[in-house]
Amino acid sequence: MPTETTTATWPPESVPTGTFTVVFADNERRTIRIKHVAADHPSEFADWLFAKFLSGPDNDANYTNFAFAKPGNHGFTLKAQYRNAGLIADALRSILTACPTVRHEMGVTWAQQSGHCYRCGRTLTVPASIEASVGPTCAGILGVPYGLAA
Ligand SMILES: [Zn+2]
Repeated sequence: MPTETTTATWPPESVPTGTFTVVFADNERRTIRIKHVAADHPSEFADWLFAKFLSGPDNDANYTNFAFAKPGNHGFTLKAQYRNAGLIADALRSILTACPTVRHEMGVTWAQQSGHCYRCGRTLTVPASIEASVGPTCAGILGVPYGLAA
């Protein structure tokens, strides 16, 4: 089994960060959070990408690292204990390879369950943000519609 996804992860700006729920054909779901550590972060992990999966009942906090991409890597590497974890690896691959419209729907699925912006994780408070599943700033960055339907 390959240990890397086939999707380029460099530069990290090209990688969709946020939290996404992938619904498989048999209605199995996996929620994946993709994070980028800031390039100027004062740690050995500066500029790394991490992928985590929802591993407990708290939709906001129970995430476990299962894959990473070091600066310059061209794919996420699955941590050794997750090399055979088919569905979470499949979910990560689906997110990375989805077109923006499908990926947005994956984010919306998580946002509607958690009440948080799927891109930055902030709590969605105003009706327009709740409807959009993202706040206004993230909507602008993602290029997705923002505002209440007329
Ligand atoms: Zn946001």
